[in-house]
Amino acid sequence: MKVIMYHYVRRYNPSLPHFRFLDVENFKKQLDYFAENFGFVSQSEWATWVTTGQMPHQPDKIILTFDDAMSCHYDYVYPELLKRNLWGIFYACSQPYLTGKMLDVHRTHVLCGAFEGRTLVAASEEVVSPDMIPNREREEFTSQTYRNQENYSGVSRFKRMLNYFVDPALKTHILDKIFEHLDYQVDSKGFYVSQENLIEMNNNGMIIGSHSVTHTLLSTLSLDQQRYELEESFRFIESITAQRDRTYCHPYGGTRSYNKDTLSILEQLNTDYAFSVNYRDIDDTDFVSSRQTLPRYDCNLFPHGLAS
Ligand SMILES: [Zn+2]
Repeated sequence: MKVIMYHYVRRYNPSLPHFRFLDVENFKKQLDYFAENFGFVSQSEWATWVTTGQMPHQPDKIILTFDDAMSCHYDYVYPELLKRNLWGIFYACSQPYLTGKMLDVHRTHVLCGAFEGRTLVAASEEVVSPDMIPNREREEFTSQTYRNQENYSGVSRFKRMLNYFVDPALKTHILDKIFEHLDYQVDSKGFYVSQENLIEMNNNGMIIGSHSVTHTLLSTLSLDQQRYELEESFRFIESITAQRDRTYCHPYGGTRSYNKDTLSILEQLNTDYAFSVNYRDIDDTDFVSSRQTLPRYDCNLFPHGLAS
């Protein structure tokens, strides 16, 4: 089975001229391509795999997943899936629903959409001092992450700094300072799928999964902090959904996004399955060997999947 990962699927917004997204028309073309070349895993085939490990007869069919529960998933993706009689798995972080605050990862995306990379790098150099970057393995992070995203010059440096290098405890504060420095405000209302709309999507066959509370790199957190991120996000998802699957998706994905503590907490919490990012199909060994780190492909690896 090929599991595909999507983030923003939307239309051009002139107030965010540098924003990276998959255009809705290309998303539709990609669904056509998948339908013609592979077909889609049905919900009952997926339920069979989740409960028994039995693969569909045609093993390379497609499963669609959507990360971060942005409002464009309700506005554009969900109606298109319903129209085609398809289903998807949508991973939501619980913090925006509990506090009304936008997640740092998305405040970063909005900044990158509104400003040029060099402006952001200059602003962050004003605000971030070396003592805010404790990670001694930053060289390794630099070479391993974002390797398949063609970020514009400057933007990749800015994103890596915020997502991988700075002390996670300072990130919100640093972003506040950068917004202040650039004299920029963002309206968080409407950025995410609303709670009522998540419920509606779940009632119409979409699976809603946990994507942690705060979308932090869990591998940088303590055992207790990780347990909070997982337990609290499952509690939220299960308070609004009625579904069989308890499922999780590692924020950022890849082997550096989690550690053995993350995986043992997922097991302790009886998580049915979790997705990471690793460019290969789910094969018949994964039910036993990789239940909490299932592989997914970025949509940009397939025709029509490049960001605008
Ligand atoms: Zn995410």
